Amino acid sequence: MRPDCPRCGLHFEREQGYWLGAMTLNFAVTEAMFVVVLVATMAITWPDVPWGTLLIAVLATNVIVPLVFYPISKTIWVGLERGVRSRLDFAG
Ligand SMILES: [Zn+2]
Repeated sequence: MRPDCPRCGLHFEREQGYWLGAMTLNFAVTEAMFVVVLVATMAITWPDVPWGTLLIAVLATNVIVPLVFYPISKTIWVGLERGVRSRLDFAG
């Protein structure tokens, strides 16, 4: 990831620990996907749940989703932070 926006020059990592919000967002989305895969597979295949296949599927979910969602979570976090900051600047 570039340290600054190539269009407007915004420095992305504004302070140490800035990406903690993006990490939290990434974790929340990953665990939500984990629950969706787990519950949907169990609901569809009940009572003959393929536990071995399901284990592989949820493990793959917990590896693939955070890798794929990593850049998206950073983009969303910068957007959220900029949006809240602009509102605070406007109010203050
Ligand atoms: Zn920019």
